[in-house]
Amino acid sequence: MKKFKKVLIANRGEIAIRIIRACQELGISTVAIYAEEDKLSLFRRKADEAYLIEDHRGPVDAYLNIDKIINLAIKKEVDAIHPGYGFLSENPEFARRVEAEGITFIGPDHWMMRQLGDKIQSKIQANKVDVPTIPGVEKPIESDEEAMEFARIAGYPIMLKAAAGGGGRGMRIVKEEKNLLREFHSARSEAFKAFGSGDIFIEKYLENPKHIEVQVLGDNYGNIVHLFERDCSIQRRHQKLIEFTPSQSINDVQRQHICEDAIKLAKSVNYRNAGTVEFLVDGNGDHYFIEMNPRIQVEHTVTEIVTGIDIVQAQILIAQGHALTSDAIDIADQDSITMRGAAIQCRITTEDPQNNFMPDTGKLEVYRTGSGNGVRLDGGNGFTGAMISPYYDSLLVKTTAFGRTFEEARRKAVRVVKEHEIEGVKTNKDFIINVLEHPTFIEGVCDTKFIDNHPELFN
Ligand code: ADP
Repeated sequence: MKKFKKVLIANRGEIAIRIIRACQELGISTVAIYAEEDKLSLFRRKADEAYLIEDHRGPVDAYLNIDKIINLAIKKEVDAIHPGYGFLSENPEFARRVEAEGITFIGPDHWMMRQLGDKIQSKIQANKVDVPTIPGVEKPIESDEEAMEFARIAGYPIMLKAAAGGGGRGMRIVKEEKNLLREFHSARSEAFKAFGSGDIFIEKYLENPKHIEVQVLGDNYGNIVHLFERDCSIQRRHQKLIEFTPSQSINDVQRQHICEDAIKLAKSVNYRNAGTVEFLVDGNGDHYFIEMNPRIQVEHTVTEIVTGIDIVQAQILIAQGHALTSDAIDIADQDSITMRGAAIQCRITTEDPQNNFMPDTGKLEVYRTGSGNGVRLDGGNGFTGAMISPYYDSLLVKTTAFGRTFEEARRKAVRVVKEHEIEGVKTNKDFIINVLEHPTFIEGVCDTKFIDNHPELFN
């Protein structure tokens, strides 16, 4: 069993703060890294130590600079590195090099990441163990002829997907054959530029699915449990905006099947640490695996609230070698995990919904968040006087509300989001309220096309 004294957080913003807090509660000292552009950011001041990573290529590169981050970790004698989400969190090479220095990477093995990190590889793995996947081809398309043939087999409309894509990018819908080759060529060159790999595959485009994902936790001894599902169907540009649990669209039998399939896939690769198995659920209630994320997710908060399990602490404890059943983690078995109540997370961002969700920048003249009964806030860089820069993610504060029922949580969410007073920079606050108050959301049954299909939300 290891005992971490010092953990380096290779990330920024709200998730850096979330990890720092988990470390503090476990009595672990924290090291933050920051780019020049983040020198006034809040997360830097929350850590015990913080060091500038100079990278002249640009503001994002500091958080991607493997050499400098690992050198700093060695110099400051850290025991482990937590990658958060985004940046290097799904980079197997980073994980491998961290471990090669005798530093613990808080996440799965690098070889497991390789096996699951790519959308094609993970679909192949799912098929191998009979976890349903969306009909398509599980190999990179190599020629125009192949593209035509496979698209015909899958049946239009189809989706072209970048194997290495993420964050809602690298996906194109093709409704008719006549557009296929044009879309295929631009998808390939775009994917190459954005993700360093031009591998494109094809799958059937599901018309109005729900996005349901399952949180899993695995220790180093082969024990794997799920922490139930999250409904992440409220999306703009394939990116999540509001997430909640439990899903209001599936019944207990469906829930059991989806969670069992998530466990089946995780067990088949002997999954370790926290991960999320993502599915789409179609109009018939059938679920299809789409990808596995081998890291903490932005929306983990809702699961923590209904299960009472601190997922970030569990990640750290698992990395130290604790079993799920240990006193430290204290998950006796699957049946000991229960869902209590409902939780809804709203991503308040500095984006302008009236202008195609374009990020806005500038000085926060006023920043007063709501609070009160049934509310959890995970803030990033928000404070009065803070400068919102154009360089990073536009997430300002994750506002999570909870209650005994979905409706109770929803009412609290409306109340607290309305309470936020943010001036100086445009936000999506009013848009979020419009979604929360929409009759379809009140029923809890929105699908992934909900925002696209409801222009009135923009009023
Ligand atoms: P990313 O890794 O970029 O987040 P995902 O594979 O998780 O991409 O998909 C993100 C979203 O894209 C899904 O939640 C869904 O809304 C949409 N999507 C992905 N695949 C399909 C598909 N085959 N049919 C319809 N929608 C899809």
